Amino acid sequence: MPVPKQRVGHSDQGHRRANWKAVQPNLFYCSNCGSPASPHTICGVCGFYKGKLISARFAKKSGYAAAQAQASENESA
Ligand SMILES: [Zn+2]
Repeated sequence: MPVPKQRVGHSDQGHRRANWKAVQPNLFYCSNCGSPASPHTICGVCGFYKGKLISARFAKKSGYAAAQAQASENESA
């Protein structure tokens, strides 16, 4: 493991830390429910991604699965 050659003084430490900046997280808004979420992830509120219900956890709550089943029945009939 590398070992520091010299002790870093308070001034150097402060100058280094002066460049630590808070970065605003990248947000996008869910196309289904409109709540803010991280990009490229399933919405944590409704379980949708790219307009489709992905997470089974939300299927019952939203009634989406039932609606999809009905739609497929209508298509086949
Ligand atoms: Zn959502």
